[in-house]
Amino acid sequence: MSDDKEYLDTTTGSDTPKEKEQKDQFEKVCFMCRRPESKAGKMIDLPNNIHICTDCMQRSFDTMNNTNINYEELMKNMPNISMIDLNSLQNQIPQRQKVKKKQEQPKEKTAQKVFDIKSIPAPHRIKASLDEYVIGQEYAKKVMSVGVYNHYKRVFADITDDVEIEKSNMLMIGPTGSGKTYMVKTLARLLDVPLAITDATSLTEAGYIGDDIESVVSKLLAAADNDVERAEHGIIFIDEIDKIAKKKNTNQRDVSGEAVQQGMLKLLEGSEVEVPVGANSKNAMVPLATVNTKNILFICGGAFPDLEEIIKERLNKTASIGFQADLKDKYDHDNKILEKVTVDDLKKFGMIPEFLGRMPIIFTLSGLDRDMLVEILKEPKNAILKQYQKLLALDEVKLEFEDGALEAIADMAMEKHTGARALRAILEEYMLDIMYEIPKDDNIGEVIITKDYITHTGGPKILLRGQEPAQIEMK
Ligand code: ADP
Repeated sequence: MSDDKEYLDTTTGSDTPKEKEQKDQFEKVCFMCRRPESKAGKMIDLPNNIHICTDCMQRSFDTMNNTNINYEELMKNMPNISMIDLNSLQNQIPQRQKVKKKQEQPKEKTAQKVFDIKSIPAPHRIKASLDEYVIGQEYAKKVMSVGVYNHYKRVFADITDDVEIEKSNMLMIGPTGSGKTYMVKTLARLLDVPLAITDATSLTEAGYIGDDIESVVSKLLAAADNDVERAEHGIIFIDEIDKIAKKKNTNQRDVSGEAVQQGMLKLLEGSEVEVPVGANSKNAMVPLATVNTKNILFICGGAFPDLEEIIKERLNKTASIGFQADLKDKYDHDNKILEKVTVDDLKKFGMIPEFLGRMPIIFTLSGLDRDMLVEILKEPKNAILKQYQKLLALDEVKLEFEDGALEAIADMAMEKHTGARALRAILEEYMLDIMYEIPKDDNIGEVIITKDYITHTGGPKILLRGQEPAQIEMK
């Protein structure tokens, strides 16, 4: 038996106390069936950090016993191998467990946390916090605040009666750059829940090239530092959901559209999924964890480009029937047309009814106009202008923008048709010279970005410390 003892002792090997502590936070995984300790029970430790669950070990012994090999003979010929007595091994399993401790994350990680999801504040308070970051989109902010409130209420409430509250998965419809991803990110940060963002176009049915649908859960687990409990309260945002609409008039098997929608159904509703830990595909050597998606909030977003046409067609059709028939093209110039979306319109677009049935909250975001873009530049708590002002303030230089300059930037962004996304790139282009030139001269005390500078007809105003403004030509 001395050999067995040696085997057990070598598991810890020469780990430093720090390495040992780190390892202690994670579950052991059976080398053979890949189930974690929490599922498979105690593990038997073998050298090189190999662990085998008692089931697999037992199975191996049973197989050996059922064959007609004369083990005693065999062992005599192989002096280094001796038969292992399973019972004695079990008795000697070290006490320490590598189960990830189900405790709160260290406090430093929750520094930005504003709300506690376990005692979630009323929707108006959630919206007020969103207001600090997200400009406009009043309706969307309201719907999301109520949705998130109900979701976490449901998750943490002790439901004792039969009334089961429906899961509040959400579908956001809005043009590119209108703040869909940004709102979800902001919410997740305020609530301090892990967030996984994925692109529906990268998802395929299991077995095809691309990411399995379940890989989104794996991503969420990674965002939760492999803490299953935290991941189970997280948010998964699936962007570009319109790209997996059912393809029309196709005879081929639709692996990236309808099939992906089908594949998502179970996840959306809530099911137990075995996901690889620390990798996005399952293979022999990757340990698996079981994550229940019942309490994960799924938010899908998409621009749904031709949806407006579908809505218009429906509205124009109903409007032109009957005695009070309206003009046939009454809705052609309605820029709030998207708000009138119905589930039927989405079905017509190519989303399958089962998928839509699991998205009880459907809402739209409006496209951003010029004034909103100007506000986005300067108002949010982490506005781009504020970031530049802070950077220059570190050099004790004040940075100001003329209103005309901001409007000119907004105009340029409008032309790109990518919503607020274009703002940063445009501003960065102009700020590059400023950030390069200003620190050269210690005498500069203030910079005013003028409209002329943005329209290439002049330069910014530079104020030397204690001097009158002077317009300076910049290359
Ligand atoms: P999409 O709707 O395509 O997901 P994003 O959320 O990625 O757009 O928006 C891109 C960037 O534009 C965000 O990172 C954010 O800085 C800014 N932005 C967009 N909409 C807003 C908004 N309503 N308020 C404040 N910033 C916004």
